[in-house]
Amino acid sequence: MPRVGVMGGTFDPIHHGHLVAASEVAHRFELDVVVFVPTGQPWQKSADGVSSAEDRYVMTVLATASDPRFKVSRVDIDRSGPTYTVDTLRDLHRIFDGEDASADLFFITGADALANIATWHDSGDVISLAHFIGVTRPGHVLTDPGLPQGSVTLIEVPALAISSTDCRSRVRAGEPIRYMVPDSVLEYIEKQALYTRTSS
Ligand code: ATP
Ligand code: MG
Repeated sequence: MPRVGVMGGTFDPIHHGHLVAASEVAHRFELDVVVFVPTGQPWQKSADGVSSAEDRYVMTVLATASDPRFKVSRVDIDRSGPTYTVDTLRDLHRIFDGEDASADLFFITGADALANIATWHDSGDVISLAHFIGVTRPGHVLTDPGLPQGSVTLIEVPALAISSTDCRSRVRAGEPIRYMVPDSVLEYIEKQALYTRTSS
């Protein structure tokens, strides 16, 4: 059965921190594929100020297009209502499971998001659907979120102190984000004038 990494995120915009984390986990865990799943309406972030799902989806496709291990899924964007990880994992099982065996899902999460896992909707069900990989992230302490033994693995990935929040504020301030995001993403941000309008 396929070994499938799952990288959920707002990806507003996707940046090299996301890509390095996904690549490192793919290598270390011998994954066949990593599926990037842009969130629908982010339930833990205010709806204002988040770019449209389509813009975030396009940027994620552009950023991942050259890597044969990477795919992008619309499951969270196409499902109505807030995004819950438990629904993401159920949808991906439907896509990747075989007739009589289920796919191994590895949910990749940075230290900040891992720390919030207990606040996730249906966090009990979530751990039966995937193995969790917590990755280091500069500025955050990577700690075991207290899930049952064996359900989380913590690993160190090359440190990139990049965040989407910082990318957005840099664009707004006229500061460069070249080399923080793939060139294709940078060009898309410029073309669509993302993060410069007062509404975004
Ligand atoms: P924002 O600042 O808008 O919250 P972000 O940079 O945190 O954006 P998200 O889309 O929220 O990006 O993150 C998706 C996932 O990627 C989360 O699990 C997050 O912890 C992880 N992640 C983001 N940036 C990094 C990084 N530089 N290194 C390791 N993991 C990261
Ligand atoms: Mg974040």
